Amino acid sequence: MLQVKLTIALRSTPAKLTLLKGMGIITVEDLLLHYPFRHEDKSELRAINLFNVQEVNTSRGMLGAIQNHKTKFGKRIQKATFTDQEGAIIECVWFNQPYLANQWSEIREVMISGRVKYSGGKMSFQAPTIEPWSDHLIHAGIVPVYHETEGLTSKWLREKIHSIIDHAGEFEEVLPEDVRKQYQFPSKAEAIRTVHFPENREQLERAKQMLAFEELFILQLNALQQKKAWAEQGGAVAMPLDAEAMKKFQEQLPFSLTDAQKISLYHILKDCEKEQPMLRMLQGDVGSGKTVVAAMAMLSFLRKGYQCVVMSPTEILAKQHCVTLKKMLPEFPCALLIGSVSEREKTELQENISTGKIQLIIGTHALIQEKVNFPQLAFAVIDEQHRFGVAQRAELVEKSGKHIPHLLMMSATPIPRTLALTIYGDQELSVIDQMPPGRKPIITKVVSATARKQATLFIDDQIQKGRQIFVICPLIQESEKLEAKSVLEEFERLKQEFPHRRIAYLHGKMKTDEKDEVMKKFKEKHYDILVSTSVIEVGIDIPNATVMVIEGSERFGLSQLHQFRGRVGRNDLQSYCFLFSTKREQQSLRRLKAMQEHTDGFKLAEIDLEIRGPGEVYGYRQSGLPDLKMASIMDGRTIAMAREKARELIETDSSLIKFPLLKKLVEKVKGNSARA
Ligand code: ADP
Ligand code: MG
Repeated sequence: MLQVKLTIALRSTPAKLTLLKGMGIITVEDLLLHYPFRHEDKSELRAINLFNVQEVNTSRGMLGAIQNHKTKFGKRIQKATFTDQEGAIIECVWFNQPYLANQWSEIREVMISGRVKYSGGKMSFQAPTIEPWSDHLIHAGIVPVYHETEGLTSKWLREKIHSIIDHAGEFEEVLPEDVRKQYQFPSKAEAIRTVHFPENREQLERAKQMLAFEELFILQLNALQQKKAWAEQGGAVAMPLDAEAMKKFQEQLPFSLTDAQKISLYHILKDCEKEQPMLRMLQGDVGSGKTVVAAMAMLSFLRKGYQCVVMSPTEILAKQHCVTLKKMLPEFPCALLIGSVSEREKTELQENISTGKIQLIIGTHALIQEKVNFPQLAFAVIDEQHRFGVAQRAELVEKSGKHIPHLLMMSATPIPRTLALTIYGDQELSVIDQMPPGRKPIITKVVSATARKQATLFIDDQIQKGRQIFVICPLIQESEKLEAKSVLEEFERLKQEFPHRRIAYLHGKMKTDEKDEVMKKFKEKHYDILVSTSVIEVGIDIPNATVMVIEGSERFGLSQLHQFRGRVGRNDLQSYCFLFSTKREQQSLRRLKAMQEHTDGFKLAEIDLEIRGPGEVYGYRQSGLPDLKMASIMDGRTIAMAREKARELIETDSSLIKFPLLKKLVEKVKGNSARA
């Protein structure tokens, strides 16, 4: 019955059914799985004189006719008066819902519920929900509230779901019996029913927790299966840990490794001792020193004649890595393979790579796109490639010779551990949570419009001292063209502001070689100021740049601001970050102030997550954030629980033979993540 189409199960107009279809709701099952996003407790009817201001209050009484009005700004509003059973009166206001006047043209007894505001000396109901009173109100008690879309009200959804709720009994059990028993979870059928129409808060919470657990459990099963599959294919080069070589390498470095670097390196080297290929994420804030760790991890493989690849998200970063790694690993033949290399050169490179002559290959995505194979590949570093998923791994394996490469992913995006378990659940995790010593914290200031002049003088003084300046233009969503325009405008403005300084600009509409040329010249100090859009590469290394100016800073997330800031302060000079902001809103100010107070990317990520939520912070599509209906990826406790139980199950029944329904649901997640 669950698969029955709503066209049959619901008596509704085709128009409504089309709207539902637009939300992906076609069958009875789909509609039952359309969960409310919150519940309102209307079980407590109150008299008006007991109302709590700013809260949702519910009452029973008489509602007068609703009438249309226009405000002095021309907005359409609706008004009516509500009289409770004790004769007290309150005004009700709705916004832009003129049809209400037709529906409620006469006095009726109702149940009314909504937020109550107090202003101008009196209370009013703000857009309350109203329902004719009856003794069997399905909208009384703890009622579900659904997200509304044009044409589908929460109330309508509630009625329709109520009419099919008995089909909830047909949901099969997904979770293994012992897991359900251990946590005293309700049955799936009961949970579905309860999440729509709970009898009390406690029952509701348990149902929600069970549904959240189930979602996370499925994700973790998928992650652990993939992790296992990767490891079990075997075939990697088992490289004994060469402590002597590591020591020697360290001795010729101009600095000593931080403890966090040493620990991460140790994790990696231990993984590489096995024939099972490694799959490890190395996280560390901008400037925490991931590159040297990667270099040391590759060292033994290179010495034994194997090939290693390093893949970067952009050409500029690939070139930078090439320079750095050549310096660190000078004795090995190395090449840069990027899209913009000429065809002739490419052919020659491919030739030398395919014979194994070139051992260290650094490049962009071109590495897995070009017609080149790496017969001796043993170790691959993937930098800042958040979507390097199962499909891309397979491509890389496809290009390697008889060995499966150990994989080291690197990311400067700080993600709290619980989140990482969900997003990178198929990988091991190492974190460099410590900065190299001696770095001066970057002095950060939120600059108001009035203090701009001062900042300008300060910047000019820095240039006078021979330093260089980055300027980031405001974020303009989804339009490279507009961003380019804003860069050019800013460029013109800066020319006025700093007439005697050398200024250059960069934006996404420029050709790669143009961009590279500008970058190169900036690096060689031909320019004092570089204006760019936000799309311009993270991780650019210009040690002489000491000031980062961010225009329209309120439009960026903290994590992003932190990434920008990380482009300065790369040597022992004191560096500065100025956050220009035009908005005076409390919330954006609070966010920006956090930049003044904190230098730790993880801390800032946490604050950002708290204020804006994970979808906003990491962007759903880019980051591979799972699509969760009930669970929160910030719910560390449930994630840990689900992870633990999933691990136990995978140990005894890795392909879920005993749980066909669970298996099916995991396959579905697998399909989705492969397509992403
Ligand atoms: P990221 O983690 O952002 O990729 P990098 O690897 O580019 O950081 O390192 C940033 C800078 O810090 C480089 O110039 C590097 O040589 C230097 N560095 C790395 N580790 C240390 C350390 N332990 N002590 C001092 N400087 C270090
Ligand atoms: Mg880096």
